[in-house]
Amino acid sequence: MTAQHLPLSELADHVTNKKLLDAAGLQHVDSCPNCRSDVKWLEALGSLRRFEPPKSAVDTVVGYFKHQRDAA
Ligand SMILES: [Zn+2]
Repeated sequence: MTAQHLPLSELADHVTNKKLLDAAGLQHVDSCPNCRSDVKWLEALGSLRRFEPPKSAVDTVVGYFKHQRDAA
């Protein structure tokens, strides 16, 4: 069991079905409000771009939030 949050890039890959999380990852998201809220907005982002989410846009958002998180 990992106490670490999942990287946003992995959550993004999961939401876009590029690379699904493993069981441990899913369990973490399920029990972690922090990561769950990350998944939520990533899903909202994904639903706007259901077909082929532009990688550059995802990277930009992920980078932005990563920066915010590091700064916090
Ligand atoms: Zn977490």
